[in-house]
Amino acid sequence: MLVRLMYASRAASGIDQEELAAILRQSRAANPTHGITGVLCYSEGIFLQVLEGGRGAVNRLYNRIVADPRHLGAELMLYEDISERRFASWAMGQVALARLNPSLLLKYSATATLDPFAVSGSVSMALFEELVATASVACQG
Ligand code: FAD
Repeated sequence: MLVRLMYASRAASGIDQEELAAILRQSRAANPTHGITGVLCYSEGIFLQVLEGGRGAVNRLYNRIVADPRHLGAELMLYEDISERRFASWAMGQVALARLNPSLLLKYSATATLDPFAVSGSVSMALFEELVATASVACQG
């Protein structure tokens, strides 16, 4: 039983590029053991993450992530049964924001800033899919 989960949260104060790199390192080290794949996007204090994998593994990981003091206010944006993964190539991919075209954000929201709290889960998922299609996800593995 495979599921896909997407949530958004706000970074705790003091989260910098070093902390972000540590989260990605930790994720890429642990996720293969638990059959988890996905993508993490961080922009201007907001995290948006998609997790895919077995239902139990995804649910357990989400509970751990929600309790992590490096962010707060996690909101579940989307949870669905799936027959196949969309982000199978990434133990935890990172959206390469430097390569992100502002017009792509404008396509899906009122302003060219990433604000998953202001749009529906399906709109954020459509954005993720386009990022993957346009090779804006970095750091395979
Ligand atoms: P530890 O103290 O490291 O381990 C305690 C016990 O839990 C050990 O027995 C260990 O084997 C077991 N364990 C460790 N990880 C898992 C797991 N994933 N599932 C089941 N058992 C486990 N962490 C990830 O692993 N993957 C992610 O994709 C991920 N994304 C994150 C995104 C954000 C925005 C943030 C802030 C954190 C993210 N984390 C992720 C980190 C996560 O919140 C925990 O810090 C991490 O899972 C380790 O938890 P811990 O410190 O309780 O476990």
